[in-house]
Amino acid sequence: MSVITLERKPKKEEGPTGRFVVQEHHARKLHWDLRLELDGVLKSWAIPKEPPLRPGIRRLAIEVEDHPLSYIDFEGIIPEGQYGAGVVKIWDKGTYRMESRKPEKMVFTLNGEKMRGGYVLLRFKEEGQWLLFKKKD
Ligand code: MN
Repeated sequence: MSVITLERKPKKEEGPTGRFVVQEHHARKLHWDLRLELDGVLKSWAIPKEPPLRPGIRRLAIEVEDHPLSYIDFEGIIPEGQYGAGVVKIWDKGTYRMESRKPEKMVFTLNGEKMRGGYVLLRFKEEGQWLLFKKKD
């Protein structure tokens, strides 16, 4: 009886990991804020419609200012008169792994309650505008 030994493939280099959050933000206009823990801050995008939970849905994601890491757990009310006044609720949170990162394209795997699997952020030519979609598995 012959024994076949399968050579183990070297493990794929894993990208950096971090936390992410999506905050449902009932400001003047309802939107969802996707924030990735990256470079010591929360890189942030405002998404005017509910983020995609399956492939085939594309969402505009507008780059907004970085937030401090401490904001990752924020839920509550931003008072009237302040920027973004309104109710903020955590819509999803978890961890992610950056699979590849270029100035115009980020690919990452989300491990949240709702958002799970591979996602892509693709930058438009216009500054600050991105497209967010879920990868086909
Ligand atoms: Mn917001």
